[in-house]
Amino acid sequence: MALQFYNTLHRTMEDFKPINKDEVGLYCCGPTVYNFAHIGNLRTYFFEDILRRVLERNGYTVKHVMNVTDVGHLSDDGDDGEDKMIKSAREKGWNVWQIAEHFTNAFFSDIDSLHIKTPQVVCKATDHIKDMQNLISQLEEKGLTYVSEGNVYYDTEGFTSYGEMALLDRQELMSGARVDIDTAKKNPRDFVLWFTKSKFEDQAMQWESPWGKGYPGWHLECSAMSTKYLGEQFDIHCGGVDHIPVHHTNEIAQTEGATGKSWVNYWLHGEFLLDQTGKMSKSKGDFLTLQKLKDMGYEAMDYRYFLLGAHYRSQLIFTYESLDSAKKARKNLEKKVLEFKSKVTGSIILDETGKLIIEEFNAALDQDMNMPRALSVVWKTVKAKNMLPEQKLAVLYDMDGILGLGLEALENVEVVEEPLDDKLLQLIREREDARKNKDFLKSDQLRDELLKQGIQIIDTPQGAQWKKV
Ligand code: AMP
Ligand code: ZN
Repeated sequence: MALQFYNTLHRTMEDFKPINKDEVGLYCCGPTVYNFAHIGNLRTYFFEDILRRVLERNGYTVKHVMNVTDVGHLSDDGDDGEDKMIKSAREKGWNVWQIAEHFTNAFFSDIDSLHIKTPQVVCKATDHIKDMQNLISQLEEKGLTYVSEGNVYYDTEGFTSYGEMALLDRQELMSGARVDIDTAKKNPRDFVLWFTKSKFEDQAMQWESPWGKGYPGWHLECSAMSTKYLGEQFDIHCGGVDHIPVHHTNEIAQTEGATGKSWVNYWLHGEFLLDQTGKMSKSKGDFLTLQKLKDMGYEAMDYRYFLLGAHYRSQLIFTYESLDSAKKARKNLEKKVLEFKSKVTGSIILDETGKLIIEEFNAALDQDMNMPRALSVVWKTVKAKNMLPEQKLAVLYDMDGILGLGLEALENVEVVEEPLDDKLLQLIREREDARKNKDFLKSDQLRDELLKQGIQIIDTPQGAQWKKV
């Protein structure tokens, strides 16, 4: 069966046919780095990771490109908010560049611990200002821009298919919705390409340009960088569903307006992770991060397993009860894998029985990444009565190429069953804290101290464990 994806562009399921036979160009809108990513943002990067793994499983080489929005951006899409980077810098007492670097590193550490593959090209907006300015010049030549009150606007009137993917006309007719009224704009849907004037002061990141000293509009970077690294036409563009009506709509207007060609063939959008009050958002202030989950004793793989349980196009409500269930299920899976490992007598080779199960697993993935169905095939394998442990392991290791749970690396560590005295437990906890805080000197000293007292600490993919020596 052919690999199929639900394409937002046509609101239908479509067979996937890449432009080049073996290579797929994949662009994913990346993080804004004025704060930590929340676990909702991470859901979107997780879905993109599954997409990349599924493409690779189908034999494609994937060129995965992601931007990092490190230019200060307004609190909303209009010119009436506060620059998020400046706000964050003021709160932390750092400069904007330090803010961007700090949260970029935090982001990559988060995705790394979630086993989300790093894109081959990670491009920062601040390194591509010239590319963005060139794009504005191209749009200017096509008569798609105008200057008003010091800012350069995109003239959406000149791009007849504006908002087609988002079905904007129809939606507006139905709901009677209105876009914000800005007197500088000819049309409420027009958006800024280059700011030289905004309603707030102290913009720290500014660059010289043919239109005056200023900074780019938010949507510009993705058009400029994706075409730079993937060409004027490429295969897949992704992001969260919130990007459909404005960000991706404006990206299409910019790129297709400039090149005159149709741009991306498949648009895939991940649904939102919600909290019990509704949408999770950074501007709400107190949002849930992966680090907070870790501080509460969860492992990153618990959250990955939690995400594996939902289809990427379904909304998912986060609760601690469901995270606990995911954690329990993952632990059971690990226990089973360790049990199979301990019972293996023959070599772990994928045979015909295994291949049949894998076909079922692949069929679920190939149909628009039906992860819940694929996960049920994983459990079917675990529970199969007619398979030897080595046959099951061969299948599970293969499936883990998608699951990304690190099943093959699992080690059976002998856990001390008799209780340790409080002093030793305290030392173990202190060492865990030191490791969490990246105080490796202290953590090594504590490890040595524990060893002197007959306790060996073993760091495993599942966290630190210990045994008596
Ligand atoms: P941001 O850093 O805010 O630009 O968002 C990064 C990515 O996370 C984008 O692709 C957004 O569409 C996505 N996103 C934002 N909020 C959520 C959420 N609650 N659930 C899932 N994805 C989200
Ligand atoms: Zn984007």
